[in-house]
Amino acid sequence: MIPSVLPTYNRAPIAFTKGEGVWLTAKDGTQYLDLGAGVAVNSLGHAHPALVKALTDQARDLWHVSNLYDIPNQRALADALVEHTFADTVFFTNSGTETCELAVKMARKHFHDKGETGRNGIITFAGAFHGRSAAAIAAAASPKMTEGFGPLLPGFINLPWGDHDALRAAADDSVAAVLVEPIQGEGGVVPLPDQCLRGLRDLCDERGILLILDEVQCGVGRSGRLFAHEWAGIVPDIMMVAKGLGGGFPMGALLATEAAASEMTVGTHGSTYGGNPLACAVGLAVMNIVSDPAFLEEVNRKAGLLRQRLEGLVAGYPDMFEQVRGMGLMLGIVCRVTNTDVIGACYDARLLTIPAAGNTVRIVPPLTITEDEILQATERLEQAAGVVSRNVAA
Ligand SMILES: *Cc1c(COP(=O)(O)O)cnc(C)c1O
Repeated sequence: MIPSVLPTYNRAPIAFTKGEGVWLTAKDGTQYLDLGAGVAVNSLGHAHPALVKALTDQARDLWHVSNLYDIPNQRALADALVEHTFADTVFFTNSGTETCELAVKMARKHFHDKGETGRNGIITFAGAFHGRSAAAIAAAASPKMTEGFGPLLPGFINLPWGDHDALRAAADDSVAAVLVEPIQGEGGVVPLPDQCLRGLRDLCDERGILLILDEVQCGVGRSGRLFAHEWAGIVPDIMMVAKGLGGGFPMGALLATEAAASEMTVGTHGSTYGGNPLACAVGLAVMNIVSDPAFLEEVNRKAGLLRQRLEGLVAGYPDMFEQVRGMGLMLGIVCRVTNTDVIGACYDARLLTIPAAGNTVRIVPPLTITEDEILQATERLEQAAGVVSRNVAA
């Protein structure tokens, strides 16, 4: 019999009842150190006092009004995002996937309204993940996500990662946008080198193509900058943000320049819940903390320590691990053994990590993790690695 919850997830048999900072308490009282943060969502850890206060204060006043009315804290959050980024304007959604939908619509409409009606192609890359909607699976084009769900939304051109010749050949006047993650998350924590991102920006400028960055996972401080593309010194035309922005409250935001967005006029897009008062109260509290340069400096310092510890672990178990990759507090350990065996041993060591493609163990802790917690986490990883290594030997 089919379970009451549609069984589309591979779930570990652990149920959590309480969270505080990087710590999660299971039903049986066991405490786990959380290096997964709800897949890079709990950017400020569990039950951060500023977020609890923002949410409960707002809950007492007003939960929801529709976008038929002015929503002052939605405007305040948009202002904050505009102030701290390349963007001139922001649309709020409830998830990352919805930002992908709007990014595709915006890019196409941009050229349509300029009379370039044939310019509607979107170039994407192998290993990408942009969500699970019809547009987002067509964009990522991996058979694992698309098999059986055809006909797929047309107009996506999925290219191999790192094939510059294929890219230059495909980027013709039928292409509206290039869509890419500065650091692939689900794809295995694979950063796009800075020079490649700059090269992409140049190519888009040269050919009159919009650059859409998917920072749903790598944005909001995770890379050590507020947004990951800042490391390359370039700006996109359109950017997708979600996960860390709500710190656990479901929300996303699509950021754009005025030039890219100017065709999105009244009636061209909408969302019932997107940018409602509860979401924006929390998003504003997250932005206030994460956009502080001193906070980001701390993230970088702690990321340095975590990276160093993980490199040490990999060096200590060369038969088990291949390399550490990623940036900031978005790191992946590429395994030679099966990644889920390592993740399982981590559960036994009371440590939560997340699988990613490419046989990777993904490590995306709350940005508020302390140095002491990093040391505890890497000790538990050592313990788990020891167990797996003995099992492999046996
Ligand atoms: C998670 C993710 C999405 C989809 O976000 P949802 O909130 O699950 O809809 C899109 N792009 C990237 C890079 C992601 O990591």
